[in-house]
Amino acid sequence: MKEILCYSCNADFYVEWGTENGYRMVKCKNCGLLYVNPVPDDEEIDLAVKTGMHKGETVLNVLNSFSDLKIKDYLEKLPLVYDKNSLCNSFSWLDIGCGYGEFIIALKSFAGGNGIYKGIEPNEIKRDFAQSKELDVDFIDIKNLPDEHFDFVSMLNVYSHLPDPVLFFNEIRRILKKNGEILIQTGDAANLNRQDFPHTLYLPDHLSFATEGIIKNLLEKSGYGRISVKRFHNPGYPVMSTGKKMKKQMYEFLRSIKKSGHKKRNYFINTDRDMWIRAQKN
Ligand SMILES: [Zn+2]
Repeated sequence: MKEILCYSCNADFYVEWGTENGYRMVKCKNCGLLYVNPVPDDEEIDLAVKTGMHKGETVLNVLNSFSDLKIKDYLEKLPLVYDKNSLCNSFSWLDIGCGYGEFIIALKSFAGGNGIYKGIEPNEIKRDFAQSKELDVDFIDIKNLPDEHFDFVSMLNVYSHLPDPVLFFNEIRRILKKNGEILIQTGDAANLNRQDFPHTLYLPDHLSFATEGIIKNLLEKSGYGRISVKRFHNPGYPVMSTGKKMKKQMYEFLRSIKKSGHKKRNYFINTDRDMWIRAQKN
């Protein structure tokens, strides 16, 4: 375990925000980034990513399984993120952390036969499954990929697992062709209170949570422009009518009177926290 600086602004002053599995998530007092500090050793991060399991006070299994629902969800979102006509010429697409291959399957269906798709997945079980679906999926270090090779590089639900997103954005920029694009899908979470976070933190599998502003800033610093963001409802939050929200608020209020130390949840926060961020290599 080692103490680190905030990767977004290099500050070293923070407040504790939450704890889980014996790890601590802190909030940078300068830029607001949430990050695990101290961080586990590199070997442990590698092991967590490769096997979907990690040590800690409890052993977590974050493997889940192939999901048709994910494909359906991607197929609903893709037309809102990309103009299909812009994908009518041939292109090459790399999906990093492709899991069981759901996003590549959705892309193939959305964009038709114009693309060549490649996936990278460190987890062996997921990789084997994707290969059994005839997808071109390997576990390669992106450092070993050639310069200016892909038109698109996507990373869905990957950002929060990265020890150093800036280094990663630079590597992706290197493998993108001129005017190539990165796509980052992640949650907007850093400005939430712990009790308003929709689910388990999965520490230290997740290493940080950012905001739209933090990610835009890091992309600009890493040589990307023409940034656009689409936001969708985060499925971790229930969809509720205003009346139901009011009832829940009242319930939390009464609980806080009854039980000292109870932190009230805010049911009126904006739940459109699933961000799809596109940016072009400058
Ligand atoms: Zn910071």
